[in-house]
This record gives sequence, C-alpha cells and structure tokens, in this order.
Amino acid sequence: MAYVRKAKKRPYADQVFKFIADFPDLIYDGMIKCKVCQIDLQCWDKGACRRHVNSTRHIKNQNGVTPKTQFMFDLLFVLVTCGVPFLILDRLPFREFWKKYCPDVDLPSRTALRNYVTTVREDVVNRIKCALKNKRLWLCVDETTDCKKNSIVNVIVRVMDPLKPTVPLLLASKRLTECTGQTITWVVLETLAKFQVPPSQVLMLVTDGDTTMRLVGRYLQEQGCRLLHVTCKVHALHLVAERIRKCFPEVDALIASTEKVFLKSPKHLRAFHAQCPGVREPSQSILTRFGTWLEAALYYAQYFQQIKVVVLQFNPAEAAGAKESQTKFRDISIETDLQIVRNNYKGLYGSIEKLQNGALSLVESLQILDEVDTLLHTIDDARNDRVLEEFESVKKDSDFITLKQISDGVSTNPLTEFKECFNYACVTSTDVERSFTKYKHIFRQGEHVSMRQLWKHI
Ligand SMILES: [Zn+2]
Repeated sequence: MAYVRKAKKRPYADQVFKFIADFPDLIYDGMIKCKVCQIDLQCWDKGACRRHVNSTRHIKNQNGVTPKTQFMFDLLFVLVTCGVPFLILDRLPFREFWKKYCPDVDLPSRTALRNYVTTVREDVVNRIKCALKNKRLWLCVDETTDCKKNSIVNVIVRVMDPLKPTVPLLLASKRLTECTGQTITWVVLETLAKFQVPPSQVLMLVTDGDTTMRLVGRYLQEQGCRLLHVTCKVHALHLVAERIRKCFPEVDALIASTEKVFLKSPKHLRAFHAQCPGVREPSQSILTRFGTWLEAALYYAQYFQQIKVVVLQFNPAEAAGAKESQTKFRDISIETDLQIVRNNYKGLYGSIEKLQNGALSLVESLQILDEVDTLLHTIDDARNDRVLEEFESVKKDSDFITLKQISDGVSTNPLTEFKECFNYACVTSTDVERSFTKYKHIFRQGEHVSMRQLWKHI
C-alpha cells in the first residue's frame, strides 16, 4: 500500500493573504506560487515562504532572464493600463511586427494570456493590500448611474503620506440595485474587509454633499470609524458657480441660445472661424463638469463683440436659437452683466480649476478656499449676497472646520494625534469623478458588457 503523507491543514485564504503581502514575488490563487521561479510552492506558512524567497534558486532566477510568467504579467499590465484589447495578439500584422523586432520572445495568443488574468488580478489585490497595510487612509466614495440606469458605487483610497501626495487607488466598483446610505456603507465596509483594512485606519472620508452621502459618513462613524467626513469642496464651489448662473438669467439665456446656433452647424462654425481666426469655438457648457458655466460666461465676456458680429449676420429663420441669440446680443445690459461676471468671478473659476489638482497639500487647498472667501466678500453687487449664501455651506461643514483646526494645530479632536497624516489630505472627490469617466468609457451605450465579458474582451 502506498504511503499517504498526512496533509498539513491549509490555512484560510485570508490568513494566507495576511502573510503573503510581505512577499511581492509570491501570489496566491488557491495555491501559493512564485512568479519568478514559476512553481507552486507547496508550503503554507510565512517561514517557508521566507525560506523560498531567500533561497539560492529564487535569487538566481530573480537575476536571470525574464521568466515567462513575469513577461505575461508585464504584458497583461501594459495592455490593460493602456486600454489595448487582447485581440491585438491574434492579429496577423501585429504578430508579424513582433516576429520581426522581437524574434526571441514568443508572443502568446489571446487565449494563453487570458489564463493569467485571474492570477494577475489576485496579485494586484495583494499589492494593494501590501500598500495599505498599517497605513492611515483617506477614502472617497460616490455613486453614479450608468447608461443602463444601474447605480454604480466606486470606492477610492489614498495612503495619507505625511511627506508627499499619493496616487489614488480604485478599490471597488459595485453595481447596486438599491442605492441608499445603508447599502453604500455596506459596500465601503465590505471593501475595507476585503483589503484587510480595519476601519480605524481610515482617518478621512470625502464625498459630495448629497443627503445619501451624509448618511454614509454618519453610519461609518457609528460603526466605529473615527474619521472626519468632509464634503467635496470642488462640488461646493461648483454650486456657488451655479448660484451665479441663477443670479444672471439673461447671461445664461445668451449662452444657451448662442450654443444652439453653433451646435452641429458646420456652416455657422465655418463663418465663425473665418471671422474670428484664432478664437476657440463657442464653449458648450456641459453642466455636469465643474464650473463650466462660469468658463462659458468668461469666454463670452472676452469675445462678445466678435461673436456678436458673426451671430447678427445669420438668418434667424435658419437656425435654432438664432433669433433669441441676436436679441440677447443687442441688449446692452447683458453685455454689462457679462463684464460684471468677469470682473467679479474670474478668480472663482481659477480657484475651481486649481482645487481639482489632487496633488495639492492641505495648506494649499485651504489657502485657495480662503482666497475665494476673501474674493466673494469684496464684491460690491446686491446679487452677490445670494452667491455668498451658497458659499456659507463650505463654512458649515463641521468636520471641515475640525480639519482646518487640526492643520492649524488648534484642535482638541483625538485625530490631532495624526496631524502629519493630513498634510496632503485632499478635500475634493475629483478622483472618483475621474474613475466614473473611465467606467462610462468602458461601458458606453450600445457596447454594454458585463464585468465578466470585459475580462474576456480584454
Ligand atoms: Zn521563487
């Protein structure tokens, strides 16, 4: 009878992830494998893993030629991050090009590369776990609706490094049938658990100012997260810009009607370019982008006379919006209003642009907001009172006030203990907005694919 060796009891996956995080060369996909040596290690504890990575064989392989697994990992990484479909590997012109210039390296087929996807994904998750281990963290959560009207929740994290800004990492992108404060909180907690992050590691949460997101902040605090929940300050300034738009309805009407004149009209655009050489086309203020209305108003204030000449020569019966646009351009008071918007709020637009830079230090972000505060308080125009009222929401954000106090060293909040971690604390949720843009690009209308199909697709 064959001798059957009694198998050592295997640890649970989460136990493996805990210790494997210390060994970037090792991956776990049900088995512990070495990427460098391309073998299953057949070992299940930290000591054995350490012995392997310190072994002569492993070190020799590490210094030798790039093994196949490493090549597959790198190839997958490059294709995915550059958005190149895996299909390219099966295309003859590409294979011939490869054969000509890299004759010594075998180019895998799409199917062969796809077999590595799960392993690479596990590896990426492990690397993120490594990066987050025992670090103080900044979280950002938001929700959007995709082209199929699904609710999508994205969770972004940054390590709060006292010395430099860090790269945002997308931890989760979940589709929810019901999007409430509770379900989003659940996504956040589940994500933290998946990456083995105790909630106490999270010091700050940034979301927009919606009621649902305010609930998420409250629920997380109730769950024992002692984080500061700050609402996005770019969103807040965008709302201030929207308030300006409401205060100048005639300017808004001029912008809207003139855009219609040029929208999808090559003839009108040709006339525009012929008469306004070097001037960019009339902006189309997409109102979901931050501060775009203000940008459009500044544009019309700058080129009012030139655009007026062009618009007035169009046949009002020919183009949608032309008649209204012409009436507005003839109205002197609108031109005056445009100059008022330009003189008073140009600085605000600049601040919205500057604040979207995720690499700003907290001091720099606070300074930008202070400048807006000063700017809005020096404006001498009755309409500005309503604008100021909107800006007050920035000041009412209680955790933001605490954040400022921590930064100034005058807070009694227990989080003051981690003051340095807030040096590069981002006060905007633009990271998550960008992640939604990428998501919507992948799952665009008419090409909707499931996540599983997506992996097949790439
Ligand atoms: Zn090895």
